[in-house]
Amino acid sequence: MTETNLRILLARRPNGAPVPEDFAIEEAPRPEPKDGYVLVRHRFLSLDPYMRGRMSEAKSYAKPVAIGGVMEGACVGHVVESRDPGFSPGDAVLGGFGWQRFSAVPAARLIRLDEAEAPLSANLGVLGMPGLTAWTGLEDIGQPKPGETVVVSAASGAVGQVAGQIAKRRGARVVGIAGGAEKCAFVTGTLGFDACIDHRGDLEAQLDAACPEGIDVYWENVGGAVQAAVFPRLRDFGRMVMCGMISQYNEAPGADASGAPPGPNLGPVVRKRLRIQGFIVSDTGWPRYGKFRAEMLGWMRDGLVWREDVVQGLAQAPAAFIGLLSGRNFGKLVVKID
Ligand code: NDP
Repeated sequence: MTETNLRILLARRPNGAPVPEDFAIEEAPRPEPKDGYVLVRHRFLSLDPYMRGRMSEAKSYAKPVAIGGVMEGACVGHVVESRDPGFSPGDAVLGGFGWQRFSAVPAARLIRLDEAEAPLSANLGVLGMPGLTAWTGLEDIGQPKPGETVVVSAASGAVGQVAGQIAKRRGARVVGIAGGAEKCAFVTGTLGFDACIDHRGDLEAQLDAACPEGIDVYWENVGGAVQAAVFPRLRDFGRMVMCGMISQYNEAPGADASGAPPGPNLGPVVRKRLRIQGFIVSDTGWPRYGKFRAEMLGWMRDGLVWREDVVQGLAQAPAAFIGLLSGRNFGKLVVKID
């Protein structure tokens, strides 16, 4: 019997933190590929914070998912049927296929994968968009130098774990910030950061102890109270890599529903000649994917580690995604599609 296409749809736009009722799950017929298209059976789905933005109608750099539409997301999988000469059944591929079991996609949108190089799911994390984000933000903005102090928030997560390990390889002293003792122990013990701060404790005192000379590069993943504590500790000519502010994603635009202290006073940006720059990996990262992948594969052979948080079954994706927005994941969050 042909497998159906299990799909997870956006049922309505969340009001604050997403809840299970914001999603709908359905069985649809398997799609048929047309000429130039490939039918892919997804093996792993990546869950990422940007998906919260796609659920909202607020103006952003990308279009929202329509109500009733399949949730957007990258997958890795295998070609089942190809109507393009470039792909054959069994080929492993990466692309943006959505929260579903199958997709029929234009061949030009696929990246072919070599399963001998790395496990399939690694292409959604350390070798995929989050790893590329870490690499791009440090190349272009952070530019850590030997001996400098780099602070990375959400340090045990998909982007943070890679950003910190790259900064170490560039010779920096790296301090992570994470939620809880277990994550902090992983960040220092397994990832090899020099120190890790628990953001549930006294952030300011811990930062002073871990960064007595101040901070040269801050990798911003969370915003809110963490940002407010880090900002005054930046040194002259410091750099803030503005990657994301996950603590604020569930707020209404313009509101501060988090209860976090007001953002930092940006006056010292001038006095300290700071560089604060945002970036989106799709603008500047993907055109350099080949260079990134070659360097990252070398580091992986050389001991760079990565942690995944694997959730079993597509039907669990909404609950896992809701958990991502409150720190319940531990490592790069992926869903194994049964
Ligand atoms: P993670 O794997 O790091 O998961 C998110 C983590 O954020 C949680 O585990 C939790 O870690 C932390 N977190 C969640 N809520 C809060 C909160 N209220 N306060 C403090 N920490 C919180 O996710 P990613 O690595 O995929 O993403 C990290 C950031 O990078 C996000 O902001 C994301 O939007 C951004 N990003 C930006 C890209 C770009 O192109 N600019 C591309 C990819 C990601 P803990 O328990 O340690 O607090």
